[in-house]
Amino acid sequence: MIRTVAVIGAGQMGSGIAQVSAQAGMKVLLGDVSVELADKARDKIAKGLAKLVEKGKVDAALAASTVANLHSFSDHAALAEADLVIEAATEREDIKHKIFESAGKHLASHAVMASNTSSIPITRMAVSSPDPARFIGIHFFNPVPLMKLVEVIPGLATSVGTIDLVRGFVGDIGKEIVLSQDEPGFIVNRIFVPFINEAAFVLGSGTGSVVDIDKGVKLGLNHPMGPLELADFIGLDTLLEIMKIYLASTGDPKYRPAPLLQKYVEAGWLGRKSGRGFYDYSGETPVPTR
Ligand code: NAD
Repeated sequence: MIRTVAVIGAGQMGSGIAQVSAQAGMKVLLGDVSVELADKARDKIAKGLAKLVEKGKVDAALAASTVANLHSFSDHAALAEADLVIEAATEREDIKHKIFESAGKHLASHAVMASNTSSIPITRMAVSSPDPARFIGIHFFNPVPLMKLVEVIPGLATSVGTIDLVRGFVGDIGKEIVLSQDEPGFIVNRIFVPFINEAAFVLGSGTGSVVDIDKGVKLGLNHPMGPLELADFIGLDTLLEIMKIYLASTGDPKYRPAPLLQKYVEAGWLGRKSGRGFYDYSGETPVPTR
């Protein structure tokens, strides 16, 4: 049973993981490159919870105990207390390897180490941890407090005991599990990113307009958002990179990026963050570009 969880990386995902774990009554050590950054994340969680209390969506006592369960750190020596260490730092393999090497020196002999990576193979990262049998992928979805799903990804050497421990943890924080093999994109993004890429193919071939593609998927498949508006949210450069990774790691041409997606990225049309993607965001409301 997990009593103490450590989360390394207090960005949007790490904060969410820390919040749901603390809310489930676990002691949470929340770390970043400095204690100040971890404190800032804790304050943000506290503010978010206070708003939910005001709206009557979260009980005041639960909000208070959640915040009281959060403890900031930056020195990895603090990790000795943790039963589970979840790395949710920046998606760069060199950063993650360094974290596993340093944090691993303080990992308790029974504790499990996990990564929330979206794209880096678990088996490859496990070699930097002290014991690959106690290393696993735990992939949360954004925003963590709202999204029900957690993908669990054992690496080649992950033990059954590690999988069972993580199953228990995911159940304790009130989430649902799907188990994925350590393949590019795991399950959900492997289906979802090519789906968005296909929408860009459909747009590029002139089969439908931006509006009709998004409307078709929303009303025909009951999706809350169309694939092109969602692509603009995620960032077209990110989606292109992911397709390139799938293509490179499988060699399967079905993962070739849609030429229109590539062109938009070359033009600097990256979606919401650049002001234009499949929609133009320069005005009050997004305007479809095709
Ligand atoms: P983010 O940029 O919001 O946060 C990353 C945090 O890691 C930052 O606070 C940064 O200061 C910290 N960090 C960097 N180097 C560190 C180090 N050496 N030690 C400790 N902290 C360090 O990123 P994010 O969106 O929270 O993503 C974090 C991880 O979660 C990535 O692996 C990403 O692929 C994965 N993920 C992201 C999403 C998403 O939708 N954003 C979904 C699932 C998984």
